[in-house]
Amino acid sequence: MKTHAKVVVIGGGVVGASVLYHLTKAGWRDVVLLERAELTSGSTWHAAGGMHTVNGDPNVAKLQQYTIELYKEIEAISGQSCGVHLTGGIMLAGTQSRLDWLKLAQARGRYLGMDLEMLSVDEAEKLFPLMDKSHFVGGMYDPMEGHCDPTGVTTAYAKSAQIGGATIERQTRVTDLQPRPDGTWDVITEQGNIHAEHVVNAGGLWAREVGRMVGLELPLLAMEHHYLITDDMPELVGQKEQLHCIDFEGEIYVRQERGGMLLGTYEKAGVPWSERETPWDFGQNLLPNDLDRIAPELEVGFEHFPAIGRVGIRRIINGPFTFAPDGNPLVGPVKGLKNFWVACACMAGFSQGGGVGLALANWMVDGDPGYDIWGMDVSRYGDWATMAYTNAKVRENYSRRFRIRFPNEELPAARPLRTTPIYDRLDDANAVFGEYCGLEHPLWFAPTKAEAVETFTFHRSESHAHVAAECKAVREGVGLLETSNYGKFEVSGPNAGAFLSRVMANALPAIGRMVLTPMLNERGKLIGDFTVGRYAADRFFVVGTYAAESYYMRWFEQHLPETGITLRPCAMEYTGLSIAGPQSRALLQTLVHDDLSTAAFPFMTFRKMDVGMIPALVGRVSFTGDLGYEIWVTSDYQRALYDLLVKAGEPFGLKPFGGRALHSMRLEKGFGTWAREFRPIYGPDEAGMGRFVSMKKNDFIGRDAVATSRASGDAPLRLLGFTVDAATADAIGDEPIWHDGKVVGWVSSGGFGHSVGQSLALGYVPARLASATEGFEIEIIGDRRPATRLDGPAFDPTGARMRA
Ligand SMILES: Cc1cc2nc3c(=O)[nH]c(=O)nc-3n(C[C@H](O)[C@H](O)[C@H](O)COP(=O)(O)OP(=O)(O)OC[C@H]3O[C@@H](n4cnc5c(N)ncnc54)[C@H](O)[C@@H]3O)c2cc1C
Repeated sequence: MKTHAKVVVIGGGVVGASVLYHLTKAGWRDVVLLERAELTSGSTWHAAGGMHTVNGDPNVAKLQQYTIELYKEIEAISGQSCGVHLTGGIMLAGTQSRLDWLKLAQARGRYLGMDLEMLSVDEAEKLFPLMDKSHFVGGMYDPMEGHCDPTGVTTAYAKSAQIGGATIERQTRVTDLQPRPDGTWDVITEQGNIHAEHVVNAGGLWAREVGRMVGLELPLLAMEHHYLITDDMPELVGQKEQLHCIDFEGEIYVRQERGGMLLGTYEKAGVPWSERETPWDFGQNLLPNDLDRIAPELEVGFEHFPAIGRVGIRRIINGPFTFAPDGNPLVGPVKGLKNFWVACACMAGFSQGGGVGLALANWMVDGDPGYDIWGMDVSRYGDWATMAYTNAKVRENYSRRFRIRFPNEELPAARPLRTTPIYDRLDDANAVFGEYCGLEHPLWFAPTKAEAVETFTFHRSESHAHVAAECKAVREGVGLLETSNYGKFEVSGPNAGAFLSRVMANALPAIGRMVLTPMLNERGKLIGDFTVGRYAADRFFVVGTYAAESYYMRWFEQHLPETGITLRPCAMEYTGLSIAGPQSRALLQTLVHDDLSTAAFPFMTFRKMDVGMIPALVGRVSFTGDLGYEIWVTSDYQRALYDLLVKAGEPFGLKPFGGRALHSMRLEKGFGTWAREFRPIYGPDEAGMGRFVSMKKNDFIGRDAVATSRASGDAPLRLLGFTVDAATADAIGDEPIWHDGKVVGWVSSGGFGHSVGQSLALGYVPARLASATEGFEIEIIGDRRPATRLDGPAFDPTGARMRA
């Protein structure tokens, strides 16, 4: 066995083999895959091999498309068949809501170039005669669905990688990983050691155990999964191969397997497997069947597809495979560990494995995944995703695999887990809470407890009128918002300014001021947006998106100077409250000695000051786009601050508002937000952030790329705001934008602007359409609604109110 390699990939399942292949394809030849037993010895060998392109996240859908198209390539290189049966697939809806969901999926598919077709129930039956159409209301056809041979695919990747120069060692278990001071690794195996520059954890069922070798507890869990194969069916004799079929209401999938059908189910009462530790002696084993557990789904399946119920069962498979809490893979470099990468929790290896391998290999070789993989990035989870949290969320996710998640639906598992000191106060005020990074935060407030409930829907819900009242209170008087769910970082020390000036694209603020700034990667793409407040020469308070805290920290750590700086995330040490609206100054002035007049405390001022008895950091800014203040206090003071503001706010008619009202108001102002408008596929000029990039200041990361893009005028997209002639549903994000009868872009965020009384959307279109006003349409639940491009913010276009 080699004693040195550029990369050691741990795990010879479909994911590890794909990573290995993509590394060789990207030009790295000195790469080794270590497999504890034989290739496919985890979940891979007993998978049903189903593959499809549809995914709730269009960026993941794109990589699924790539994966399925890749099979031809690796077959050609390796000479190994992947056993692909591209039969096409049908997704059946049993309810109107599901049909709406399919329409949304079809619409999203349009700008991804997917050829999805809505079907009436009769058309569906023609394509899939095994169904009893009385249970369904319609369906959707996807030509890019089918199934493959799991072992064939893995072998084809492995052989293609070997042809590209990779080495594969079987029967070689990695027992330990030891870091060297230079960031390289000693990979300890049962067959000797390898010194590697990089290590990839593609350990699948054992990814947790491999993670623990480096002190990492990865948020993933294996669930047991059943499928069965029937005896041969007379209905299939002489017929063309049946389509892959998902029956959402039945919570089952079916496809042809030789002369019979394969039927699998994600049952409601799913059972996790090896909750704390995966045994090393588990290999090409199966788990005992538990037909009773899947009986309810089977019963429905046999009713919906009667011919399947009439034949005997030839074989039942029960095997484990892993999930992250949200069901998407965990991919990328791990914060705090040098040259350690993960590619695991991939629950749909035959739809996603190729995309995961491609993105990870790009990241390792070029320093960038090359795609928008925020939805799969391992850094989307923080310390709050403990083993027990993961257990609760994975069970929930598994049981909901074929259920609709409505845009206004908050899932109940693992809640409440994290609460701020004013949680009970907000609860008493009839807050309806949402969960974000395990943290409870108010979405909206109901007038009474009895009204603090909401129907889950794609249309406007009961909360619409209450959110409208919250927006009115802010726009006409003053509202109070909890802002604890923002990410915060303290940056201090003599090198703090130089560091921030290098990683942030805007010039740093003067003492007592704050700025809005994008953070860019070397390609000049957006990898963050922050406000940076400066309250002393060498002390900064940086506020961004909490969900991206680990993502930001990973980047900061890569660029930190060795000395002269202390940078720490402090999201939960500083909880926050914000007041906004024309009366907010008068209210705050009753509680502070400092002069808050515009002359003395203008827009974007940032200062330490006492609010009543409470030491605080106060910024004159509000994401509502109104006159407003963000007040940050250490958590021990938050209750006192809340009580103080509520009491002092009484004469001003202070009203609490939640995240939904904030969303409505930021849309009215055209303010973008991370993971919606700002993602690593957009440049600042495309995202309307160009004015926050200071080309005059010192060199900063991404500067050259922005300069080049500006010189060549090659920023292809523009973020635009629209009013939409919507009916009872607003855009929610990812809907296609049409122009003159063609799909030209996609919505990044949408909703109702209560203060302007209009349905609104933000979205990306080609730059050439940036000044077109006519001819736009936004497709909402299958309906192309006329849309008008806005010239500026829908509310207070000159920004006079926030600067007042
Ligand atoms: C019953 C069932 C049906 C399924 N159906 C489908 C389907 O229809 N479509 C689909 O896309 N997916 C399906 N899946 C899921 C699919 O199997 C997984 O997505 C996929 O196998 C994950 O591959 P992996 O490479 O990440 O992990 P694994 O297959 O678990 O591979 C990990 C490998 O790493 C090796 N390894 C671990 N630790 C070490 C170590 N320390 N040293 C050396 N080697 C190590 C293991 O031996 C193993 O070979 C199904 C799964 C099951 C169980």
